[in-house]
Amino acid sequence: MAERRAILFDLDDTLYPLERFVMSGFRAVAAAVEARWRVPRAAALETLVSAVASSRGRELQVLAQRHDLPAAAVPELVDVIRLHVPDLRLPELSLSVLGALRRDWRLGLVTNGRPDIQARKVRALGVHRLVDAVVYAHAVGNGAGKPDAAPFLEACRQLGVAAEATVFVGDDPDCDVAGAHAVGMKTIWLPARVAPQSARPAEQADVIVASLADVPAAATRLLAPEWRAHVA
Ligand SMILES: [Mg+2]
Repeated sequence: MAERRAILFDLDDTLYPLERFVMSGFRAVAAAVEARWRVPRAAALETLVSAVASSRGRELQVLAQRHDLPAAAVPELVDVIRLHVPDLRLPELSLSVLGALRRDWRLGLVTNGRPDIQARKVRALGVHRLVDAVVYAHAVGNGAGKPDAAPFLEACRQLGVAAEATVFVGDDPDCDVAGAHAVGMKTIWLPARVAPQSARPAEQADVIVASLADVPAAATRLLAPEWRAHVA
C-alpha cells in the first residue's frame, strides 16, 4: 500500500544555500564580461561580490558602471545568469536527510521562482532523483506561486497524499509556513542562516528547527505513523 504521509520541501535556502547559486551566476557573468568586453574576470567577480553587501539586487548595474560597460550589458548579463548551467552540489546533509526520509515518507519539492531557472537548479543539484514530485509553484494555478494554495495542493495531488497528512519544511515565514498552514499542512520552519533584516518569526510554524538534521524527528512527532489508524 502506498505510503500516506508526505514531507514537502522548499528549495532555495532550505535544501541548499541560495548564495551558492548567486555565486555560480556571478562566475558565469564574470566569464562573459571577460570574453565580451575584455574586463579581467577576477576584477569583475570582485566587483560583483563586493556589491552584494552595498547594493544587493543591483550588482549587475554596479558592475556595468564600474567597468564602463554599455547600457545594453545589464539585460544581457541577466540572461547569462538565467541561462547558465548552475555549478551546484546538494549539501551532504540534505542528501542524507532526503535519503533517510524516503524510506518512510513520500517526498516532494515545491519551489518559487522562474520555472526555467528553478529547473536548472533542480537538475544541477540532482534533487529530482531524491523526491517523488517536483512542483514549480509559478507554473501551476494562476501562476502566483507560494503562498497561494495551488502549488501546495498540486504537490498533494501528485503524491496522492492529503494536505492534513503532509508536513511542509521551508525557510520563508510567509511563502512556506503560512502558505502551507493555510491549506491544512503541518509546518516546520527552518530559518535561513542569513535571515533578511525584516525577517519575523513564523507564527504558524508547528515546529522550529535549527538544522535539516532535526526534520525527520520533528516530522515524525507531527505525523506519527499511528496517525493512519485514526483515518483508516
Ligand atoms: Mg526558500
